Parts: sequence; structure tokens; C-alpha cells
Amino acid sequence: MIYFDYHATTPVDPVVLDAMLPYFTEKFGNAASRQYRYGWDAKEAVEQARESVAALIGAESKEIVFTSGATEANNLALKGLADAYRARGNHFVTVTTEHKSVLDSCKTIERQGGEVTLLPVEPDGQLDLDRLRQAVTPHTVAVSVMAANNEIGTLAPLAAIAALAHEKGALLHTDAVQAAGKVPFDVNASGVDVASLTAHKLYGPKGVGALYVRRRNPRVTVSPLIDGGGHERGMRSGTLNVPAIVGFGAAAKLARTQMDEEAARLLTLRTRLLDGLRRQVEGLIVNGTLAARLPGNLNVSFPGIDGEALLVSLCEDIAVSSGAACTAAEPSHVLKALGRKTDLALASLRFGLGRWTTDADVDEACARVGEVVHRLRAMSPA
Ligand SMILES: *Cc1c(COP(=O)(O)O)cnc(C)c1O
Repeated sequence: MIYFDYHATTPVDPVVLDAMLPYFTEKFGNAASRQYRYGWDAKEAVEQARESVAALIGAESKEIVFTSGATEANNLALKGLADAYRARGNHFVTVTTEHKSVLDSCKTIERQGGEVTLLPVEPDGQLDLDRLRQAVTPHTVAVSVMAANNEIGTLAPLAAIAALAHEKGALLHTDAVQAAGKVPFDVNASGVDVASLTAHKLYGPKGVGALYVRRRNPRVTVSPLIDGGGHERGMRSGTLNVPAIVGFGAAAKLARTQMDEEAARLLTLRTRLLDGLRRQVEGLIVNGTLAARLPGNLNVSFPGIDGEALLVSLCEDIAVSSGAACTAAEPSHVLKALGRKTDLALASLRFGLGRWTTDADVDEACARVGEVVHRLRAMSPA
């Protein structure tokens, strides 16, 4: 079974696991216990991890708030800003191709009396910046645009988007889950004010993430979703998951040192995959622009075949999906946003390439997909 779903999750790197293990057993302290060594050691490990996560995105460690993952970070960003900036307004701007945790947080904001402008994308997955400029008003609290899309890999021009938002006094939040550690992402170079991250998309453990909250130019605050002991500078109470946070730090450090080389390797593999699939399958459609895209992402549609049959035929040999893991079986809302009809959206595959993908894996996938598509097309009256 070959794994091609690195956008859904990644295995924990062995180096990361080694770093985590002592914090389950002998170093088990509560990072908030201040009276003795167990607590100090846990606290020190958390602060080191905070520095590594901050360094990955060009932030300061005090700007990192640990959460249970990016779903929570996106909720905290949007609902937390909505509450903290009520005096400014209640308007948010986001995009149809965002992750469900952003879209559904925006729905909650709307239900609670806020106003959300949901922008469409161009057929290649990119945002029309003129449309964005028109959507932002002096009462817009924040614009939320993801750094890299989790289905079609499209990279957003964040610096330009930040400039448009800031011109009207709005903040920029970005879901940077798929970009962080994969392509250069720096909160200052891109002018981002708030950013969501998660460890399990960059070879760390599941169940830990972070929200970057800018502290200078301007100083940003978010109201907490979870009240309690005032951990994480009051923005996220609850005893810290020390082993997971240590793993997140180790994963961030690894990603930072390997990123340039790994991105080049993945781009070569992605090109090999696309060339191979094009040789095998007539009429292949690439979803999303190839010009500004995560190197490890390919998303393709296969006209004239049944999507369900495609996935069922492949699932014994290759782990690949037709969209985000959370909404399997429904046509992807991202592909629909590109204008794909339901049948074609279902007859699509998202390939996520990662740290352990090889040339041989790619060649095998091309052969398997080619075989299945030919068989299904031969069976189909269309
Ligand atoms: C996976 C993912 C999330 C959710 O992260 P969790 O830590 O699994 O909650 C949010 N946004 C994007 C773009 C993702 O790919």
C-alpha cells in the first residue's frame, strides 16, 4: 500500500517520536507547576518547542499560542477576533475554497449577527484581488485567506492580500497548515496578523497545533474560546500537552532545515507523476494552477468515469483521496468552486506527496491509475 495522502496527515518522523518519548514517562511534569523540577523541565521543553515553531514562520516565541490543532486554531482566530474587535465592526471576508473549520466558524459568526462576505475563486483556484479589494470595508475585522489550499495546493499571494486588508484597517488571518514547513512562509514578509498551524501535517503528532497572534505593528488579541487557568497568555486555558508540543517543536525544526531540498525533490516527483498520468490517461484535467502551487500536491480529474468505482478500485493499493478527509463521499466543495460538475468532482484524485514518497511509488501509482481508468472507461457507455 503506497501512501499518497500527505495533505490529510503525515506519519510522525522517528526523530520527532524520540524527542517526545521522555515526556510521557520520566519527564511527565505539568508545565504550570512552578515549585519543583518536574514542572520546570516540562516548562522549559514547552518554551524550546515554542521557539522552534516560531522560528519556522519568522515569529517571536511569545506570539505562539498552543492549541489542540488547526481546527481549534481557526475557530480561535475567527471567533476570537469577532469577539475582541466588536467595537470596530462585525464583518469578515473569506473564500469559498477555505477549510471547513474556517467556513463553519464564519457561519457561526453570521448566526451570531456578524456579516461574512464569501468570495468565489477563478477557474484556476486563485482569488481575484480586485474583488477582494471591493469586499473589504472600514468595518471589516479580518480577511481570512489560506496560505496553501489543502486540496489543490494553490498558494495565495499573501503580501498583496495583507496590503489590501491593511489599507482599510482590517487584519489578515491565514490558515497556514499546508504551507508551513513546505514552502517559505514568514509572518513578517507576508504581513500576516494571525496564522493557524498544526503538527500532524508536518510529521509531528496529531492533536497539537498553534495560533500565531502578532504582538507588534499592530498588537493583536483574540478572546479565548476556552476559559480556565489563564494558560497561553489567557488565550487558551488548559494543561499543556507537553509530549505533543515537544513533538511539534522537533517537527518544526526538522521541516525548517529540510524544506528547500525537500521542496525541490517533491517538485521533481510531482512532475514525474503528472507526466506519467498524462501518458496513461487521455483527457486528464489538472485542478488548480500549476504556476503557484505546493510542490507536493497534484489534483486531477478523469472525465467519463465513476468516482466511487475509481476510489474503490484503487483503495487496496494506493492511499489517495478525492478531496479533504473530513468530507469524503461528497463532491469536494473546492472542486465545485472551480466550476467542476458533481460527477467530475467525484472522479478526481488528490495526490499528496511527502517525505517518504519515491520514484518507484510514483511509477506504480501511474500504472495502477492508468489500468483502473482504462478498465472503467471500457465498461462505461459514455
Ligand atoms: C488538516 C487541516 C486543518 C485541520 O487541522 P487539524 O489539526 O486536523 O484540526 C485545517 N486547515 C487545513 C488547510 C488543513 O489541511
